[in-house]
Amino acid sequence: MKKLIFTILTILLCLTSFMLISCDGEEDTTTTVDNEDNTTTTTVEVPCSHEKTNIIHGVSPTTKRTGLTDGMECSDCGLILKSQSIIPAEPIIDGLAYRLNNDHFSYSIIGIGEKTDTEIVIPSTYKGFPVTEIEKNAFKDCKNIKSVVISKGIRNIGTAAFMHCESLISITIPEGVDTIKNHTFSYCSNLKNITIPDSVTYIGVGAFKNCKSLTSLPLGKGVTRLGYRAFEDCDGIIDVTLPDEITELNSGVFYRCDGLKSVTLGKGITAISDGMFEGCSNLTSITINGDIKSIGHGSFMFCENLKEFAIPKGVTVIGSGAFYGCMRITDIKIPNSVTTIGSYAFYGCLRITDIKIPNSVTTIGSYAFYDCLRLESATFEDASGWKCNGNTIDFTNPADSAAFLKTSLNTYSLKKE
Ligand SMILES: [Zn+2]
Repeated sequence: MKKLIFTILTILLCLTSFMLISCDGEEDTTTTVDNEDNTTTTTVEVPCSHEKTNIIHGVSPTTKRTGLTDGMECSDCGLILKSQSIIPAEPIIDGLAYRLNNDHFSYSIIGIGEKTDTEIVIPSTYKGFPVTEIEKNAFKDCKNIKSVVISKGIRNIGTAAFMHCESLISITIPEGVDTIKNHTFSYCSNLKNITIPDSVTYIGVGAFKNCKSLTSLPLGKGVTRLGYRAFEDCDGIIDVTLPDEITELNSGVFYRCDGLKSVTLGKGITAISDGMFEGCSNLTSITINGDIKSIGHGSFMFCENLKEFAIPKGVTVIGSGAFYGCMRITDIKIPNSVTTIGSYAFYGCLRITDIKIPNSVTTIGSYAFYDCLRLESATFEDASGWKCNGNTIDFTNPADSAAFLKTSLNTYSLKKE
């Protein structure tokens, strides 16, 4: 019996050692080949458990140099267990607030400092070094400044740098800046004059949100992309003409621009993005010069004064809720390139009286024409093969079809097979 237990224990021990060796793998096994006598020795090293540690002492930053945080290393094997990271230099208040950049050869403007002037000039140099950027949030909530001139040489204006500067009327941005970053001027409700250089190619997310005093789109000649809700609530803009060079309009670019009446889209625009004109309650005229392929979700939602809109030939998809609540629209022509009419697409378009569904259409989403209370005639170019939740629907009679589309019977998508 004792012998049996001993044997089992021995086997277990061997297994355990074998497993340990295989787990640790090649890293801990060093094979040395001695060339002279061709003998091979194998040593198994015990892995370091990094139990003893040394602190690598950091350095405090000053106004003249950056600092370093504390780090940590293993005092046995020297492995860095926690690396040191750079602490930015201390701010310098000299009128405006400056900071030496991590390169130690240039400065950033980090805030208004002790300046009380309402007119601010951001210099191009400080103490003989170039000023290259305005840090994010640098002038955020500076409610008194009225004008800012940014000197040439500044290439980077950080996110939200002038957000909520509610007295700001005019600002000059120098050539060399390539992006108006997210929320840079949002809630600058008095901003009227802004010079955007041709070097700017992108206007960021919400960059001009709530700039209610702007009367025209602030764009230089180089702009190609406009970010998500870049001009949200810019109620003072009435006419917009987008140059052909603009190729990307993100969702909701003109979200709730209540003053906007007339828009001309250049040749670079090939889609009406989601929510592009959502809530533009005074929009009445849209001119399209590009080859539009799709109309995004909610793109004209609640354009309450839109009376007509010719969906361009070539559009294949009308997104869900695209014309939701366009209560004054009287006439909608669906070109025979459209295959899909999204759900809720014309929900609550109270003044539409008749609609023609071309034979290109194969899907009509649920509630697409729901609550189009005056809809009396829906003419299906191809009335056969339509199914709703598995049931065949007969669309040969325009009056019956209209009745079906505008009532709650239209709970499921309609599909043509
Ligand atoms: Zn170690």
